[in-house]
Amino acid sequence: YACNENRLIEAKGFGLKTQEEIKQAIEFKIAADGKFLYAQVNLMVANLRKSLSDWLVGVDKDAQLGFVGQYRRCCEIVDELEIIIGAEQLEKIAAQLLNFEHLSLIPADDFFLATNASGLKVKLYVVKKDDFYLNYFKYTGNAAHVQQVLKLIEKQHFESEEEIYELAGLDFIVPELRENLGEIELANQKQLPKLIEYKDLKGSLHNHSTWSDGVHTLEEMAVFCKESLQMEYFGICDHSKVAVYAKGLSIERVLAQQQEINTLNKKLSPFKIFKGIESDILNDGTLDYPEEILKTFDFVVASVHSNLRMDEEKATSRLIKAIENPYTTILGHPTGRLLLTRPGYPIDFKKVIDACAANKVVIEINANPLRLDLDWRWHRYALDQGVLLSINADAHRTEGFYDMNYGILAARKGGLSADKCLNSFTLEEITEYFESKNGFRV
Ligand SMILES: [Zn+2]
Ligand SMILES: [Zn+2]
Repeated sequence: YACNENRLIEAKGFGLKTQEEIKQAIEFKIAADGKFLYAQVNLMVANLRKSLSDWLVGVDKDAQLGFVGQYRRCCEIVDELEIIIGAEQLEKIAAQLLNFEHLSLIPADDFFLATNASGLKVKLYVVKKDDFYLNYFKYTGNAAHVQQVLKLIEKQHFESEEEIYELAGLDFIVPELRENLGEIELANQKQLPKLIEYKDLKGSLHNHSTWSDGVHTLEEMAVFCKESLQMEYFGICDHSKVAVYAKGLSIERVLAQQQEINTLNKKLSPFKIFKGIESDILNDGTLDYPEEILKTFDFVVASVHSNLRMDEEKATSRLIKAIENPYTTILGHPTGRLLLTRPGYPIDFKKVIDACAANKVVIEINANPLRLDLDWRWHRYALDQGVLLSINADAHRTEGFYDMNYGILAARKGGLSADKCLNSFTLEEITEYFESKNGFRV
């Protein structure tokens, strides 16, 4: 499975090097019923934003342009791209839009509709400049959020979105939180979390190398992390022995890899490579090495890669058994889902998260745009139980580290702040964290 998965992920265009490769990948329609991953839409938006704003300058240089809806809320799946233009002369813009060469726009009620070359539905609104911010706000949040906030205000014209929230007596709510999942109450009580940002990340845990199914060597991965990303540490978690299809490490190869890490750590100091493993969670919930080997790792990511067809009870107890293993540091991609490709195995989220809280196990937010697993809808529950989350690149090549950008978006949507994110810890803090987690060993 994992072997196919990686091929699949690569085929879908993540971590591809050239524009041409990326373009081909976008055109490769994986989307079921016009649904696309956020990462795919993000690339489409980059191009469309440029062509639309270039075009707008020629028609009305004072016009305003915004991308709204699911895209602006950083939803993991987008099935409709909504765009808004604010201008003085609506008729002029509307007439000229029919000649916009990058989209065949068809006029509908109070908007234009199109399907882009990749098959994504596009909805474009043209509004009076005076109403731009009201509409920018209206078309961004989900319907319930918008309704709740507007109930608190009389005024109709705004200079900014900030003004809308201010007049409603609320702290400003960033677009990714506007889902009516308690954020309005938090904003009212000035209790919104200070959301994590990419610059808060100090390292990347859970990554692969040529020791298992990665494309770049351990040293290349570590040096990229140090030099190009300016991180303080790097966690290597190649596959464990049962994952034969992914060149999973035999016990001998684990020990040989750890020798290489010792050498590299001398060379790269003060940068640090942590010795990890992505241990398969076997069918009965045990990990894939005997205790004397598990003991040699600084940390262990425990993940399910095989026998994915389980009912909820079986999947939940399999995960909980692994969570209760004192060597488990992080629960990897908790449901195994591949967005738009296959649903995860069903789990009882509350039971799994509660078990992580009880056993001080961190939960991964796998940053691969196909996974984004743990789903953001469960982040707040996990945080409320005192569980730490970790934004893990699961990089199989150096470019894969950039997926952490998508992990950050998902984490922000879930309400994560930097102090609750394991890989925002400094080298010193995380060293201490691993040592205290592993304290039972001595
Ligand atoms: Zn995995
Ligand atoms: Zn992995």
